Amino acid sequence: MAEPLELLDLDRDALGELIESLGQPSFRARQVWRQIYQRGNVDPLEMTDLPAALREQLSEMTTPSREPLEVQTSSDGSTSKALLPLADGELIETVLIRSRPRDTVCLSSQAGCAMGCVFCATGLQGLRRQLTAGEILRQGVLARQWARDEGRELTHVVFMGMGEPLANYSNVSEAISRLTDPDGFGLSPRRITVSTVGIPQNIRRLASDHPTVNLAVSLHAPDQKLRRELVPVPGASVDDIVSAVREHNRQTGGRVTFEYVLLNGVNDSRAHARRLAERIRGIRAHVNLIPLNPSPGVVGSRPSRRATLGFQKALQERGVPATVRVEQGSDIAAACGQLRGDRVRGNA
Ligand code: SF4
Repeated sequence: MAEPLELLDLDRDALGELIESLGQPSFRARQVWRQIYQRGNVDPLEMTDLPAALREQLSEMTTPSREPLEVQTSSDGSTSKALLPLADGELIETVLIRSRPRDTVCLSSQAGCAMGCVFCATGLQGLRRQLTAGEILRQGVLARQWARDEGRELTHVVFMGMGEPLANYSNVSEAISRLTDPDGFGLSPRRITVSTVGIPQNIRRLASDHPTVNLAVSLHAPDQKLRRELVPVPGASVDDIVSAVREHNRQTGGRVTFEYVLLNGVNDSRAHARRLAERIRGIRAHVNLIPLNPSPGVVGSRPSRRATLGFQKALQERGVPATVRVEQGSDIAAACGQLRGDRVRGNA
């Protein structure tokens, strides 16, 4: 017997071939596509505009969608985190951030992460595996349904959950294509942000393939030596990353966000801020400062409010726009750097 299919794992061509193989006219494929990505119906039996026989056929061929094992909501109600099981038993986390009129889903792109940033709970796991485009999109479909059930509408997507999205480029790129497909999820690319620790060749590919998607680059240090202490996996140098960002700026005409996690006494001095301003001079950029969200097992402590504001001021005095991220969801470990799929690791 053939392996059951996951509808979300089919791209548009593959879905068209499946529908054709069932002897159905091609417009049925478009109906199914819209049911999944516009209405959020991943169960064929609920696709009520399809003939009953086709619904049955599709249902028999496909695997039922897995529901979240657990959903936690922060005490202020602003943030919810879902723990999602994958077919092979891996677990990932997806976060919905409510801040009307902007409701954002934070997508995971890998189970675990190979980058090993010392302040990040996901990095403690190492890379477990890449997510498929379907597994990435499942999170978006679920979050939008979740928002709609509350009378809200999902407006933004950020690739800032578990994993390094540009280390899973082809699946993330396919997910972006379906998120921005007018027949699919229908989001404007300007409402999508890809956040990377910095993989220069894929920053360039992103500029070509998705020029209006927003880019955020996690730099965390103004120079190579300090960066290597914070992002220990050998990879691109700060010089190479900044130079890819300059090209991205030139090619897309957009503005990049540099993410900078502030660790007390490590990278949070005014001298670091001055060096950072010097390093990114001439780039259309905004710096997003993130005071460390401590998690068990990760390195570093949170800087004082005074140090954080001093860092911000030092950047602003040099003409670099800088804001301090408003924290949401830290009480349920849903803030930046805190995601790890606790139940699979058993390290809660
Ligand atoms: S901060 Fe991002 S890139 Fe670094 S280990 Fe965590 S998930 Fe990976």
